[in-house]
Amino acid sequence: MRKAVLLIIISSIVAWAQTSPLSPEQRATFHGRQSEAIEPFHIVGNIYYVGARNIASYLITTPEGHIMIDTGTKEMHDVVRANVAKLGFKLQEIKILLSGHAHFDHVQGHAAMKKATGAKVMAIGEDARALSAGADLSPLGDEGWEPVKVDRVLKDGDTVTLGGTTLRAVWTPGHTPGCTTWTTRTEEKGRAYSIVFQACGGPNAGVKLIGNTKFPKLVEDTLRTFQTQKALKPDIYLPMHPESYFAGKVDRIKSGETPHPLLDPNAYAKLIADTETNFQKRLQEERAKASTSGK
Ligand SMILES: [Zn+2]
Repeated sequence: MRKAVLLIIISSIVAWAQTSPLSPEQRATFHGRQSEAIEPFHIVGNIYYVGARNIASYLITTPEGHIMIDTGTKEMHDVVRANVAKLGFKLQEIKILLSGHAHFDHVQGHAAMKKATGAKVMAIGEDARALSAGADLSPLGDEGWEPVKVDRVLKDGDTVTLGGTTLRAVWTPGHTPGCTTWTTRTEEKGRAYSIVFQACGGPNAGVKLIGNTKFPKLVEDTLRTFQTQKALKPDIYLPMHPESYFAGKVDRIKSGETPHPLLDPNAYAKLIADTETNFQKRLQEERAKASTSGK
């Protein structure tokens, strides 16, 4: 049963990505399902899940206020607010809003969350431009959002520090021109964990790779991103569409199982290797098509 559901989800994601646009009704159903409420939970150290069924929002708590990574779709704004409260945290204590990449399913809630919290929005240059324009400036060119003021524009390697917690912005373009892999460290039961928030896979399916006028450096940037990511080697990575990744593990995480159910120092390297293989295959297919069409 679970496998069947998963297959439907995967095939609908593939279908959405490849044949986009879906009919407005199909699209609403797809994103509506991903934005559905689920119970928030403590992940590890000072990191909590406050997102929806398959669109993440992560809360990193500190004694001087909190940091939120991703606010999700506009439909899930109330879900995220309620989840923060359910965990016993105050919305007004969120001081900083970050994002993995400027696509509507991750930043559409930014403007409302900034209004509700007064938090400072920070993002890497290329994504900051999209955030403040209220438009998806990546090759996907999907749905936009209410423009949001970016209080601090970051560059590769910049750090964000609050209450003793530091996050580092690793510029990993490809999925969007400003795609950002956030890294941090946390501790639990005397053990330190290096954490990666994984928001930057390859470009969306269906996006033209070679000579993309919206993102001319897409191919070289994406290939460099894979090298950057391979060097990160986190103990735990946390994805932005986590439903299948968390499946079967949430209860174990909640019960405090050791070793931590998400602890797998090889998992991230494998994910990146698979993503790179897929990207190389797409590149080859695109080159083959270009040569048979006589170009
Ligand atoms: Zn995206």
